[in-house]
Order: sequence, then structure tokens, then C-alpha cells
Amino acid sequence: MNPTTAYDNSYKQSHPDFLNHPLFLNASQGLDEAAQLMKIDPNIINRLKLPRKCISVAVPVRMDDHTVKVYMGYRVQYNATLGPYKGGVRYHQNVDLGEVAGLAALMTFKNSVLGLPYGGAKGGVTVDPRKLSRTEKQNLTRRYTSEIASFIGPSKDIPAPDVGTDAQTMAWMMDTYSQEQGGFTQPGVVTGKPIEIGGTLGRVGATGLGVIYITERAFETQGRHLKGASIAIQGFGNVGSHAALFAFERGAKVVAVSDVDGGIFNGDGLNIPQLRAHFESQKTLRGFPHAKEITNTELLFLPVDALLPCALEGVIDEKNAKNVKAKIIVEGANGPVTVNATKVLHQMGVFIAPDIIANGGGVIVSYFEWVQDIMSFFWEEDDINGKLKSIITKAFDSTYKTAQDKKVDMRSAAMGVAIKRLEKAMLLRGLYPR
Ligand code: NAD
Repeated sequence: MNPTTAYDNSYKQSHPDFLNHPLFLNASQGLDEAAQLMKIDPNIINRLKLPRKCISVAVPVRMDDHTVKVYMGYRVQYNATLGPYKGGVRYHQNVDLGEVAGLAALMTFKNSVLGLPYGGAKGGVTVDPRKLSRTEKQNLTRRYTSEIASFIGPSKDIPAPDVGTDAQTMAWMMDTYSQEQGGFTQPGVVTGKPIEIGGTLGRVGATGLGVIYITERAFETQGRHLKGASIAIQGFGNVGSHAALFAFERGAKVVAVSDVDGGIFNGDGLNIPQLRAHFESQKTLRGFPHAKEITNTELLFLPVDALLPCALEGVIDEKNAKNVKAKIIVEGANGPVTVNATKVLHQMGVFIAPDIIANGGGVIVSYFEWVQDIMSFFWEEDDINGKLKSIITKAFDSTYKTAQDKKVDMRSAAMGVAIKRLEKAMLLRGLYPR
């Protein structure tokens, strides 16, 4: 094909049904729009529209009652132009191949816009991990890892935690992979591990810290400051609870937070260290003193300075976008604001810091963990946080400049910066000679 080839939509007829997942279609729409914006070679875009490799595995697990249950597991390796594949592993009952492919596409664009030497991937198992005992979860993790072992490795594909998985899960993955390599310990095969076995300082809070670095920059672009500003945060898991803490420590008024069971509100600001202690002991936000209960929907439409959706995808769509009153949205979760809702909000003058930059802190510090494992030399936490700030701020600033130059929203600009880097790399590698 020559460079004047039109954008090829024939994949729509031939692409498999699983790619009709809303998350994948949303990523694909973002890609199309950014391609037009940056005038990317259509040959490149046609390649970027489909995952390079989709692996489906059946994972038999011996349960505590001695029966065997078989779960479906996936690993989608989306693109490896910039380096080894990299992306998390999700355990959730809604996981399917289409969702994993959509998340793998987002990882490709995220790693590119952040300037990391990685391609994009994602993995998952269709299971509700809350229904597994610790032994069952370990059995599941070990068998899933064995099934995908020949596709992963420190220089091939490096998994990490995502929803439903954690540092312990990564420890089991690393151990299983190492056994498959003759018993030689391979810490670089996964990131997000416990510190004692090659994990890094700063990883646990990294995504929340990155969200707050980006929130600070978003305020600065509006000539305002995070200190004293009112913030609402949806989700009080890893990302949301750390973002709340770092915002509180910087003098922001975190007026509302929520989790799957609903939210709490205090117009004078919640005391986040006390709330984290309450949540730790009670396992619920409910019953926290000096706060009234609100719903997740009420939280999204509070008249606050900034809204940080840090739970689920698709919570703000084109139908409810007009109810948003915040002037800044920072996407801690993956895909909480749809591409079409972004257009409505941009028209309304709402500034959106998109997920592929805003929640990039996790993969940036994962990158540091991988580098430290390869060097077998470990860094101080201040050093890690400083490097995190430098990388994430650089990505934000180049995106902001593109958004200003092209007069577009930050999501389109971030996708534009990401695919421009991918285009340059593909052409340099000679993958698409003109
Ligand atoms: P988590 O499982 O630790 O927390 C999820 C939170 O969302 C919990 O508080 C849960 O109660 C809440 N939640 C679940 N369903 C909800 C609902 N219907 N309404 C409101 N809240 C609900 O997960 P996490 O690691 O904090 O990840 C959250 C999001 O951030 C996901 O989209 C994930 O892909 C993304 N993300 C996470 C990281 C990371 O390092 N953890 C990095 C990048 C992106």
C-alpha cells in the first residue's frame, strides 16, 4: 500500500465479534480521531487498529472441596513497536477477550505518550476473586501463569497488578515463571511485586500520586491551585484512596469519596488519614463521623473544583455529561469518561486530563521496578517519586502544547502524541516502508 491509501475500514467487516466490546470501540474511535488530527500514515493506523496477538487459555483450578473448576484466561499483546509488551492482569467476573483487547490498546497508547520503552498488553481471568480462598487464588494464578509462560518474560512481556490482583499475585506469578525457567529467579518478569522479592519503593501509591501530580498541573493551566480547592473522588481502592491522601496532604479539601456501596460528603473537607483508618478497620466508608451519605451518582455531579473518577469505566457518557459541574476532571480509572462525553464536556469548558496520562504513575513506577530488577540495584523513594513527577509532567506538558496548537481537547491531543511516536518508530524500524 502507498501512503495515500485511504483509512481502511474493511476490518469492520472482517474483525471478530469480540472486538465489538464498548471499551475496544471507544479506544478505536479515539485512535481514528487522533489519526485525522495528526495526519498519520493510514498504513500505520490500519496496523494499530487490531491487536497483534490474542491468547485465550483454559485454566483448571483444584478448589478447596477437591472439585476442579475451569476458568477462561486471556493475554492480549497489542503492539510491541516501542519495546517489550507491558500491562496488568485483571481478575473480575466481567473480564472477556474484548475488554482485555480494549485495555491492551489503551496500554499501547499510554506507554507511548509517557515515553516509556514498552509496547502494550493486558491480561485477565474471568473470575470473581472475592469468591476464592487464598489457596484457590494461588492455584489459579500459578496455572494461568504456566499457560501463558512461553509468551511472557523480562524482555518479552511483563505483567503487573490490576483490578482484583495485587503484590501477592505477582509474587506467585514470578515464582511460577521462575520454576518454568529451571528454578532461576526472574524478578524482571512481573512488576508490582512485594519489596522483599524485587519490588520497588513507591509502587503501591504510585498511580494515586501521579493522579495528584497531574491534578496540580491541571489547576496550574487554569491559573489556579490545588491547595484549598474542593475535590470529589469516585472509588476508594488503590488509586482513589491514595489520590485522596496525597490531595489532602497538599491542602486540598476532599469533600466527597465513594466506593461500590456509595459515598460520603462533608463540605468542609474529610479528614483522609482518619477516613483511611476507619475504612481499614470497618471495611466500609459508612459510619464515618461528621459526614453525610450520598450516592455515587450524586458524587459525580457535585459542584466541586475537580472531579477524580478512580473506580470504573464509562461512568460519564454523552447522556449524563451535561450534569457535571466540576471544571476539571482527572481520570484516575481507565476510560471513566467516554470519547463522546469528552466532546460535550470540552464544549462546556471542562478540562479533562485523560487516563493514558493521568493514571500513568503505576506503569511509570513499574518501569522503574523493572530497571532496578535488571540492574539489581535499588533506589530511594524520594528519587523514585522525583523521577515519576518528571516523566508524567513532561507527558502532560507536551500533550497540553499539542492541545493548544491544534485547538483540541486533551484526550485527542494525548492520543495524537502517542500515535505520532508510534508512527515515527514504525517508520524507523522499516515496518512500513514508503
Ligand atoms: P481497586 O479494586 O483497588 O478499587 C476500585 C474501587 O472502585 C473500590 O473502592 C470499589 O469499591 C470501587 N467501585 C467498584 N465498583 C463501583 C461502583 N459501581 N461505583 C463506585 N465505585 C465502585 O482498583 P484500583 O487499582 O484502584 O483501580 C481503579 C481503576 O484505576 C481501574 O479502572 C483500573 O484499571 C485503573 N488503574 C489502576 C492502576 C493501579 O495501579 N492500581 C493503574 C492504572 C489504572
